Amino acid sequence: MTPRGSRTTLAALLRDVSDRLSRRYGRARRSAHRMEPLRNLVLTILSQNTTDANRDRAFAALMARFPTFPLLAAASPKDVEETIRVGGLARAKAKAILSALSRIHRERGEYSLDFLSGMSLPDARGYLTSFPGVGVKTANVVLLFSFRKEAFPVDTHILRVTKRLGLVPPAADLSRAALLLEPHVPPGEPMPFHMNLIRLGREICRPRDPLCPECPLLAVCPEGARRAENRGVAPR
Ligand code: SF4
Repeated sequence: MTPRGSRTTLAALLRDVSDRLSRRYGRARRSAHRMEPLRNLVLTILSQNTTDANRDRAFAALMARFPTFPLLAAASPKDVEETIRVGGLARAKAKAILSALSRIHRERGEYSLDFLSGMSLPDARGYLTSFPGVGVKTANVVLLFSFRKEAFPVDTHILRVTKRLGLVPPAADLSRAALLLEPHVPPGEPMPFHMNLIRLGREICRPRDPLCPECPLLAVCPEGARRAENRGVAPR
């Protein structure tokens, strides 16, 4: 299913949505600092199913106890699990982190993902998602924020917003939505678009009680129109 029409239409819709968000929030600027890719992979594994605050606490604790990758790679799964417990799913995350470090070192002879910079986006994503516990969202975060590749990470906020906008099918999961949207995101826009959609999802298009009358996307949102109709208000 191609949501709301043809592939060209999806690209045009994404451009329009991105422009509307930029007018409301500005165009989120790239940080001059690129996080070291392997640290970013560890951080993003820690971010799964938890809040940013608990992710950051788990990451800080991990880096404080094991400040280098060789030290972390030599740690026991139990020690890593104990250190990152605040982030939730500690056993699975410890396993994913240690298994990624072990394989990268075995295959590349060093603790580095820098070689991914020379790979195409699909190949680099394919490499990262071949690690247990690393899905499309985690891979795309690393590829977008550490390599500036045109990957489009979809988190739960973006999934909810794009479903309400009718841009992805109702049954799509995070991976499917990311792969469906990514080829149609305007060039150069994945990072600001990603950040602005998350902001909209947190502040306005909330899981319960979205604030549709305040939303910059109301004029192009089927869910917003439906809710306005239920309230007896015409969308602006
Ligand atoms: Fe979400 Fe409402 Fe905005 Fe649509 S109009 S994106 S449902 S807040």
